[in-house]
Amino acid sequence: MDHMSKISITQTPNYEYERVLADVKTHLERFDLLNRIKPEQKILIKPNLLMKRKPEEFTTTHPSLVEAVIVCLKEAGFSNITVADSPGGLYTPQLLKGIYDATGMSEICRKHQVTLNYTTDAKEKKNEAGKLVKSFPIIQPVWEADFIIDIAKLKTHAMTGMSGAVKNLFGCIPGLTKPEYHWRFPDKELFCEMLIDLCETVRPDFALVDAVEAMEGDGPSGGEKRNTGMILSSDNLYDLDFYLCSVIGVDPQTIFTVKNSIKRGLCCGDPQKLEIIGTANLPQQPFAVPTDIGVDFMGKVPKLFRKPVKAAIGKWFTSRPVIRKKDCVGCGKCAESCPAKTIRIENRKAVIGYSKCIHCFCCHEMCPVKAIDIKRTKLFDF
Ligand code: SF4
Ligand code: SF4
Repeated sequence: MDHMSKISITQTPNYEYERVLADVKTHLERFDLLNRIKPEQKILIKPNLLMKRKPEEFTTTHPSLVEAVIVCLKEAGFSNITVADSPGGLYTPQLLKGIYDATGMSEICRKHQVTLNYTTDAKEKKNEAGKLVKSFPIIQPVWEADFIIDIAKLKTHAMTGMSGAVKNLFGCIPGLTKPEYHWRFPDKELFCEMLIDLCETVRPDFALVDAVEAMEGDGPSGGEKRNTGMILSSDNLYDLDFYLCSVIGVDPQTIFTVKNSIKRGLCCGDPQKLEIIGTANLPQQPFAVPTDIGVDFMGKVPKLFRKPVKAAIGKWFTSRPVIRKKDCVGCGKCAESCPAKTIRIENRKAVIGYSKCIHCFCCHEMCPVKAIDIKRTKLFDF
């Protein structure tokens, strides 16, 4: 698509609140965002609250970014602000409370008198132009919002390769309906096409990405901390994710949400068409990729052979989740989130029935004690 996009970058070395507030203000000013919202509009802030983790565990959007956005909105006179997400697992008020408390959302919303969503209703939202999905169940606060601000966390991701602005929207689908989408779209590329359909349905107005402390390796929950000291933003989520590929040091053609948004003409797919505002001190070393080979392996295979090689990999050599029994506490969260219903709890330990596994890694993502590894055969350790 022939468009120019603005990507705003600040070098934000840590989560010290005053610094984050100043940098978030800079981002919003660069897009004249506060003048684009009408006084009567309902504003929705959608952070990444994947699971019950503390901010320093670098899994969820840091509360200082969410707080900074709230303060900027309130200073500009907006009062109809809601913070909402549907994390992994069950979607109930009790579980939401635990996650909001742990991730720091309860405290900032209380402090600034902002609504923190506890309703667990959802409604179908249509998008007839969807390529694979023309209607999604969407959580009520997102459905009702007039202006949506996506605040994502930059992470590598075992299934989609990267979790950025577009992937963060998966949390607009309620609770255990999410695994159903893994079941419907076990193929990574189709799953990512579905995510693009979802993004086209939700249509956020703006996205910020928390890459101050990002995650590399086995994200979105089992990886290592990677300090990049950056906050990034744009009003085009696809172009923002395209740029994030250069932050994590991965070929955009290996991240299907990016590759296919380029194909659909939603992403410019050309660094020359990005107007970078701010200083971009990109990391010197690429992020560690997830253990799963699907992300960058194909780049090593000649184009001609990619299809048959991919099919063979899918059939015989796909990485798989492996339970570390000594660490498993038998909580059942993996079984709950497994779309193939192929995990059972025996003697207080999880057991995976591999014949039905679709390699979505929802179990790995949801294990609260990181007792699930992603393992690949030694054949691919080259
Ligand atoms: S593997 Fe993790 S999520 Fe599954 S039962 Fe054990 S501790 Fe719970
Ligand atoms: S066992 Fe894990 S990876 Fe396999 S289908 Fe279930 S949740 Fe997905």
